Amino acid sequence: MGTDFAPEQKRYLEGFVAGLAATRAAGGLNAAPAAAKPAATGAAAAEPAGPDAAAHRAMARFEAQGRKLANEEKAKREEFGLDSYGRMKQHARDAAFPKGVDVFRWKFHGLFYVAPTQDSYMCRLRIPNGILKYWQFAGVADLAAQHGGGYSHVTTRANLQMREIPATDGPAVLEGLIGLGLTARGSGADNIRNVTGGPTAGIDPQELIDTRPFALDWHHHILADRSLYGLPRKFNVAFDGGGRIGALEDTNDIGFQAVEVADGHGVEPGVWFRVVLGGITGHMDFARDTGVIVKPEQASDVADAMVRVFIDHGDRTDRKKARLKYVLDAFGFEKFLALTEEKLGWSLPRVPASAVAPRPEPDRLAHIGVHRQKQAGLNWVGVVLPTGRMSVEQMHGLARLARDLGDGEIRLTVWQNLILSGVPDDKVALMEAAVEALGLSTKATAIRAGLVACTGSMGCRFANADTKGAAEAIARHCEERVALDLPVNIHVTGCPHSCAQHYIGDIGLVGARVPVNEDGDTVDGFHLVVGGGFGSDAAIARELYRDVKTTEAPVVVEGLLRAWLAHRADGAETLA
Ligand code: SF4
Repeated sequence: MGTDFAPEQKRYLEGFVAGLAATRAAGGLNAAPAAAKPAATGAAAAEPAGPDAAAHRAMARFEAQGRKLANEEKAKREEFGLDSYGRMKQHARDAAFPKGVDVFRWKFHGLFYVAPTQDSYMCRLRIPNGILKYWQFAGVADLAAQHGGGYSHVTTRANLQMREIPATDGPAVLEGLIGLGLTARGSGADNIRNVTGGPTAGIDPQELIDTRPFALDWHHHILADRSLYGLPRKFNVAFDGGGRIGALEDTNDIGFQAVEVADGHGVEPGVWFRVVLGGITGHMDFARDTGVIVKPEQASDVADAMVRVFIDHGDRTDRKKARLKYVLDAFGFEKFLALTEEKLGWSLPRVPASAVAPRPEPDRLAHIGVHRQKQAGLNWVGVVLPTGRMSVEQMHGLARLARDLGDGEIRLTVWQNLILSGVPDDKVALMEAAVEALGLSTKATAIRAGLVACTGSMGCRFANADTKGAAEAIARHCEERVALDLPVNIHVTGCPHSCAQHYIGDIGLVGARVPVNEDGDTVDGFHLVVGGGFGSDAAIARELYRDVKTTEAPVVVEGLLRAWLAHRADGAETLA
């Protein structure tokens, strides 16, 4: 300190230097150990840092074992999908679709290049709890008209998809969605997918809890935290409040099921979420009860910790084994829950099954037609959509009806249809007539009410068959010939990825190339499974027929239905 400072400046400087020394002594930011650390050399690379650190550590562990990372993992490490937005916009300016691993990276933003089936993008949204406002729904219709094929689909995760988006328009759709208070971020690739919840949340007379706040909390939690993107594989979370229309939570990686816990089990009596884990019906597994219950307001924290255990331990070398189910199979519940508790820093409460009251049963037809809400004088009206498809004109009409005759909300269901809620008693008939005027219906036969189909060959490169066309043909053929007194779920899926969950259908069809001669020529067709179910009827369907041509499928399904009607033990027996 050779400079001649004024006395007050000198005091300041001495105090400042003393403060720095104290900070260093306490191990503060500029503490000496940082400089004293030996520099990383050669193979001893620096420990990964930042939000992707856990994923990078997991990748390094597999490599240290001499195992080859999946290409998608290498792509994530080279350039994290969320960081590709600028390049994606440049591609749009150049009217170019992505190539190679960029196809995967663009899915982080919700854009799927679906060539060769369609030389265009599909955009998959996120609709937390499947509920949106009429003006958002109309806005999506505008985007589909301006940038897409003029239609949208409701998916089996109570979500919306737009298709036939040209190379120039992908970012415009994504930014248009943000303008509507919606997003597509993280709806594809190895990310946490759209959060499903009870579609009648908050209006359902039998629900134990309104799932909307919890689904919304989780939706915002994952959107805001970059370290929750780029998992080993996709991840599904659902909240079921015990209402009349289920969320199919037992087909999710994590299912939160509202349950009523009785007094005398060491926890506060009342409504909790029971945690079920590892559902992935395409791999023939439902989520199983862990015995754990969580306070509804702690659901996001618990899901966060579980996802982080999955990030640490999920397989990153074999895409077929990279889902949560396989971590659970390897560890067992107790080890997985112990690791979750380590992340949480507190113990998860457990109760025996006997502490939990039987859950209210869903009604397999409550998503169609008119049903009383818990609010006096109000109703929800379920509208049938042919395997989820709506034209933009129909979407605009539905938005108008929700605004004028309902409470302004549109609720999507996992049954690929939608509900208009808050319809006063004296407007129900008008609503039904107006829906009919749109070329849609509020009524369905027992066959059509439970008919779901994935995208199939109209827009998915994995498809072995035209699923939506086949589903329509089966419904048309059978409803004219077979009168059913119970609903029957028919799930038509285009390939073993099982987006339409054929294994939980009373009748499931999975697309297959059916050989027609010895030269190896094939035609569209299906393998048929029967006896699946969900909820309290949960069952994985068993294969009954192989290699049924699409053209023959309606007659084969008719035969199955007739045989069931003729041989069932009583009128209440399902196909399961
Ligand atoms: Fe495509 Fe297969 Fe999924 Fe159908 S099940 S949408 S064909 S990936």
